Amino acid sequence: MDLTWSDDEQAFRAEVRAWLETELAAWRSRHDGRILSGDTKEGFAQHLDWERTLFDARYAVVSWPEEFGGRAASRWEWLIFEEEYYRAGGPQRVTQNGIFLLAPTIFEFGTPEQQAHILPRMASAEDLWCQGWSEPNAGSDLASLTCRASRDDDRGGWVLDGQKTWTTRGAFCTHLFGLFRTEPGSERHRGLTYLLVPLDLEGVTVRGFGRLDGDEGFAEVFFDGAFLSDDAIPGGVVLGEVGQGWSVAMATTSSERGLTLRAPGRFTATADRLVDAYRERSGRASGDSAHGLDPGLRDRVVQGWMEAEAYRLQTLQTVTEDAEGRPAGATSSFVKLWWSELDVNLHETALDLLGAEAELDSQWSKGWQFALSGPIYAGTNEIQRNIAAERVLGLPRK
Ligand SMILES: Cc1cc2nc3c(=O)[nH]c(=O)nc-3n(C[C@H](O)[C@H](O)[C@H](O)COP(=O)(O)OP(=O)(O)OC[C@H]3O[C@@H](n4cnc5c(N)ncnc54)[C@H](O)[C@@H]3O)c2cc1C
Repeated sequence: MDLTWSDDEQAFRAEVRAWLETELAAWRSRHDGRILSGDTKEGFAQHLDWERTLFDARYAVVSWPEEFGGRAASRWEWLIFEEEYYRAGGPQRVTQNGIFLLAPTIFEFGTPEQQAHILPRMASAEDLWCQGWSEPNAGSDLASLTCRASRDDDRGGWVLDGQKTWTTRGAFCTHLFGLFRTEPGSERHRGLTYLLVPLDLEGVTVRGFGRLDGDEGFAEVFFDGAFLSDDAIPGGVVLGEVGQGWSVAMATTSSERGLTLRAPGRFTATADRLVDAYRERSGRASGDSAHGLDPGLRDRVVQGWMEAEAYRLQTLQTVTEDAEGRPAGATSSFVKLWWSELDVNLHETALDLLGAEAELDSQWSKGWQFALSGPIYAGTNEIQRNIAAERVLGLPRK
């Protein structure tokens, strides 16, 4: 693997860096420098404004084909974009569940008509997608889900019943991609179908609720006999085949845990901020013994930086293997374990470094609160360890 960037790649990096510097400043000033969390109603609207700025410059989905709003950039260029994005302090992508989770699955399983309709509208943030998988009694054990879609041939569509929960930004989204039981009496992962559902159907109720950090980023979605017509989405509302929803969903989880959801640029930028914070404080400490730093912190900062760098290098290898036609599969569980635990470690080290000042620094304190959820979302880390043990290491099931 050649780790040097080509001239074209370096030119792309310079172009992205310059654009982000100008446009992020313009966006912040459009909102009087008061940018709120994208997991609040007002903040979500600010972030949509940013998403449309990205789209207009064809930076919303750089690696997608041009016909869908992208630049046909390589996976490596996408990694460069992500590095620059987080280096510049770019905001959370409120479109992420669409562009990073659903889109790779649409590219793999969608018909040309579905792709032509769904992808450009997703890229431009016209349609906003949320993930409707978890239910009150189906989280880690997703195959126990009970949301039903009953076939109604007379009307040409599906009748939806049941409840989804933990739907990130569901209250602000227009569409949901979800798993429904379409074969009456089926069990576990059989008889499920992956459906694409507009949320404005009669019989769908979306109720936002707050997270522990105070933001209202979650929603419960209730389906009470909602009728989903086959033509509610041009090209059809079923992604993949009826009854094959589980295998389609596994492609989405591979994106969620593996390559697309959490690019290393996010963590290398956090590690760099941690190093800067340590440098700043150790300078302060040397001039004032009352602020002496725990010597163990230095090792933790270095360790955190190295682990972020290791993730960057590992991702370059994953991208190379992917380009050679060797997709990550179950090994994406290792990747998820790595980035989620890394994020917690980086933030905990920062909080220990900052001491009481951390309370005043919302980037670190809020970042830490969110990092704590990393070992839960995208499949808990206990489940990832089970998958890695059974499917990668070939250990017996307990
Ligand atoms: C920030 C955040 C965003 C989320 N966004 C979405 C979203 O947009 N859409 C969506 O559908 N869901 C979303 N979720 C839900 C998430 O997928 C679930 O929380 C997760 O799958 C765990 O399910 P659960 O909460 O029901 O916990 P449970 O499955 O009840 O697990 C409880 C505990 O038991 C452990 N456990 C369970 N089974 C086993 C086992 N077999 N072996 C070992 N340990 C086990 C778990 O690891 C966990 O520690 C989100 C969650 C978070 C935190």
